[in-house]
Amino acid sequence: PTPRGDQRVAVIGLGRFGTSLAAELMRRGWDVLGIDENARLVQKYSDSLTHAVVADGTDSEALAQLGVDEFSSAVVAIGTDVEASILVTSNLLEAGVPNIWAKAISRQHGRILERLGAHHVVLPEHEMGERVAHLVTGRMLDFIEFDDDFALVKTIAPSVVRGVPLGESRLRSRYGVTVVGIKPMGEDFTHATADTVVEKGDVIIVTGKTAAVEAFAELS
Ligand code: ADP
Repeated sequence: PTPRGDQRVAVIGLGRFGTSLAAELMRRGWDVLGIDENARLVQKYSDSLTHAVVADGTDSEALAQLGVDEFSSAVVAIGTDVEASILVTSNLLEAGVPNIWAKAISRQHGRILERLGAHHVVLPEHEMGERVAHLVTGRMLDFIEFDDDFALVKTIAPSVVRGVPLGESRLRSRYGVTVVGIKPMGEDFTHATADTVVEKGDVIIVTGKTAAVEAFAELS
């Protein structure tokens, strides 16, 4: 597909995070300008990205020459070198890029990027660590926590949810959760409705306050 004008993103740093992100953006039909100071990496990804360029992102003139100021989105995918991450983010902010995503390797690093004005800060290692903890300790098959204490969980249906239509199960008043999707054994996921009856062995998707979905997923 041909990307629209706003479906262009500059990715600065072609490490593990940056290249995984860039590959997914390419798959989604976006234009990706990959920038790294390491020529070997740029060479390696030159065929799989729209453009791949050797440049130092801490050099604002180099970024201007690449036209990065005209991009609507940019991702600072530099973690290990915190100073470079901060300088590149600051250059992008000064260039007026309206959507800047930055990866942080620690909470302190994340706070600095936020104070600087980065529009979105992600902490992939922290976030994934917390997520895996939920899978290790509980019966959850998957766990995603959003901001503001709200979560989405994939879990094997506990007995309290089985046997009656969801509309009559009073799950929201009793457990503070809502079943939004169901995957009966051997079938695909579908939306759950008030008439859906969950059976033993079904996998369900449940939403609610984090503590509520955590407690619900512990029920057997
Ligand atoms: P990951 O953990 O995702 O692999 P790293 O922080 O280890 O992330 O890698 C970041 C990448 O960013 C490296 O390939 C590095 O060469 C590149 N990089 C670091 N500083 C700059 C900079 N100033 N300009 C451009 N690329 C940079």
